[in-house]
Amino acid sequence: MSIFQNARFYTTVNHMKDLPATRAEVAFVGRSNAGKSSAINTLANRTRLAYVSKTPGRTQHINFFELGEECFLVDLPGYGYAEVPEAVRAHWVELLGRYLQTRQSLIGLLLIMDARHPLKELDRRMLDFFRETGRPVHILLSKADKLSRQEQAKVLALVKRELADYPAVSVQMFSSLKKAGVDEVEQVVKGWFDA
Ligand code: GDP
Repeated sequence: MSIFQNARFYTTVNHMKDLPATRAEVAFVGRSNAGKSSAINTLANRTRLAYVSKTPGRTQHINFFELGEECFLVDLPGYGYAEVPEAVRAHWVELLGRYLQTRQSLIGLLLIMDARHPLKELDRRMLDFFRETGRPVHILLSKADKLSRQEQAKVLALVKRELADYPAVSVQMFSSLKKAGVDEVEQVVKGWFDA
């Protein structure tokens, strides 16, 4: 059975200082509207574990889901939403950066990017923050159903080329709409937890 199927809501925190005691955790990050909540729901095979299209960019909560008693999935707030005041945005980027750089229990990062708009500036910032930890990043190029096979191959190649300098980065196509790419994500995350 999929490791995500038993995901259960654990807690919501609003401040980094309130993060729960550490277990091995894997976090989901991405620009607001990239399809992160949909991806979490698709992986967990649940319609409403993470909330899809709330007020984008307003919710700055960090949601923890538990997988059994030893692992967490962490849903980090989306970044880059244009209507959030600049000061608030900057603050969140900084907090996310601090979390990515210092959270010892964070064993891997899932970065969600819309396959039609990959590697925006803030995505690169997140990669840079996390790079120093030396831990693996797996990129989901979401909404793959919006691209033809040929376009998908092109975007995959482009992202791989752009990230050639990053250690431990892997990339795949993903579609919540078509439930495509689920097995591949599971394999990667299972590998992280089992390591
Ligand atoms: P989040 O802000 O990153 O959590 O993004 P959401 O999961 O809320 O999705 C943002 C929008 O993209 C919503 O309108 C979703 O229905 C849509 N969306 C998400 N995943 C997919 C997908 O795989 N295919 C398509 N076509 N649309 C998607």
